[in-house]
Amino acid sequence: MRIVVVAGGIGGARFLTGVRSAAPRADITAVVNTGDDVTLHGLRICPDLDSVMYTLGDGIDPERGWGRRGESWVVKDELAAYGAEPTWFGLGDRDLATHLVRTRMLDAGYPLSEVTLALAERWQPGVTLLPMSDQRVETHVVVTDPDTGRPQAIHFQEWWIRHRAALDPSAFVQVGVEDARPAPGVGEAFASADAVLLAPSNPVVSVGTVLGVPGLREALLASPARVVGVSPVVGGAPVRGMADRCLPAIGVEVSAEGVGRHYGARSAGGLLDSWLVHETDAADVPGVDVRRVPLLMTDPATTQAMAEAALNAARA
Ligand code: GDP
Ligand code: CA
Repeated sequence: MRIVVVAGGIGGARFLTGVRSAAPRADITAVVNTGDDVTLHGLRICPDLDSVMYTLGDGIDPERGWGRRGESWVVKDELAAYGAEPTWFGLGDRDLATHLVRTRMLDAGYPLSEVTLALAERWQPGVTLLPMSDQRVETHVVVTDPDTGRPQAIHFQEWWIRHRAALDPSAFVQVGVEDARPAPGVGEAFASADAVLLAPSNPVVSVGTVLGVPGLREALLASPARVVGVSPVVGGAPVRGMADRCLPAIGVEVSAEGVGRHYGARSAGGLLDSWLVHETDAADVPGVDVRRVPLLMTDPATTQAMAEAALNAARA
């Protein structure tokens, strides 16, 4: 069986662990958001790819949900002692090695997809990790500058981490997206898939960003496989994180129904054949097979059961 999962960082990574254990013999490809990528201190950082790689490679810090287990922060403190900006981004010592290897390979001319493959050699994630694109696409957030009152676009990481998403967003912009194409392997993965799953990732700045790469949405929709989405919103709020700060900015209600309708029925120009919502939620999404199943990834068994429910919906 061939499975393709569209994923962001933490939600995508955890869901992928479930898919991997639900279908241990399957050929699984993760198409991962790179709109969060940023260059800091001269290093190229890919937070979502790294969250997926560390999680599947058993190197993740389980409490934080991002970065390396057993991390130390000596370099971050030393950079701050120099007054080297930015100081708000969590750059751990162990994590830095990943960024050093990646940056060196990118500088030598390797595309991000090949760099990602090389990094995954160490972590053996058990799935094929593909960036959504080899071209740089960076999400920027349009906010009102508190000093001047004028609109201003800041990098997604600055908005999310430095400001903790507190500044009201009026739009999300994918800088560079016009020149982007799906990374090598993405189109082929969709074309040969038996199941396409949208992870319970942020619908705006993870799944939305991946689908914004020109040609990617078309490749997904051309897949012979059924497309099954999993709601990241349970009981009117994101299970984790600040997705509730993103959805209203694009006019989407923060509910499983709102996100399901935003993705829309494949039969009506949208994405979904099937939509999984939490057992206590209800959602009416015209043209979509809506299923109510437990959607809380609290431990490996429930996470696997959730992935099994998604795969069952894909087989329907
Ligand atoms: P990020 O890139 O690290 O922000 O991670 P993603 O975009 O992949 O996932 C973030 C989303 O995961 C959030 O909107 C959460 O609501 C969702 N999420 C996290 N844990 C769970 C869970 O246990 N169940 C469900 N259904 N969604 C979850
Ligand atoms: Ca992310």
